[in-house]
Amino acid sequence: MDNLKEVIVSKPNTPYFSNLKIKIPRFCPHCNQAISAITVEYYRLSYIGNEEALNVLLHKCPDCEKFFVTLHKRYKENNQELEYISVYPNQKKVQFHDLIEKISPRFIDVYNQAYTAEQQNHLDVAGAGYRLALEILIKDFAINALHEDPKVVKRKSLSNALKDYLDEQEALTSADVVRILGNDYVHYEQKHEGVEFTELKWYLEMFIKRLEAKLLFLNPPVPTRMIDA
Ligand SMILES: [Zn+2]
Repeated sequence: MDNLKEVIVSKPNTPYFSNLKIKIPRFCPHCNQAISAITVEYYRLSYIGNEEALNVLLHKCPDCEKFFVTLHKRYKENNQELEYISVYPNQKKVQFHDLIEKISPRFIDVYNQAYTAEQQNHLDVAGAGYRLALEILIKDFAINALHEDPKVVKRKSLSNALKDYLDEQEALTSADVVRILGNDYVHYEQKHEGVEFTELKWYLEMFIKRLEAKLLFLNPPVPTRMIDA
């Protein structure tokens, strides 16, 4: 799925900035909400005569009311369609439950690398990254939460690790789909045509939520101790 959306913006009374077709992030980099940003400032930085210019736009999120900047390239003054370059600040890192952080900090690191690639629309790299993140998570879960032998766990393929360390039928099904989808982004030849990146993301999110629930079940909150009379 595309994390950018196309919008048309105009600065009042300024022909140079009228009806610009631009792409901006679909989600606010501060609060992560899907937003309709309000474009409030427009700047032009020419660097090759009038032929090429960088346009710097400042937007406001209607939800959290914070600002973010996007950079666009304009090839000719009369070309209203600008090429998206980048956003500042970059999209936030994804936060996970403390229990996941405790069993697998490396999962969080790799997941966020994939997430960053996704923000920049590098979906093949992101897909491969999410699949690796999944493998790290399930193996760390086996070692650190189920106390399986690390030597045995590390040798297992992703599909066997999923089969062996998840007992819930539902979790197995969703994880299995992630494995199938994830493979598509790793192998040179794509087997399942039309399999969408959003599907991979959706199943992965579902898998993470289920694993989180399992971890909560294995680590119930410590009961409050009775005060000695
Ligand atoms: Zn916001």
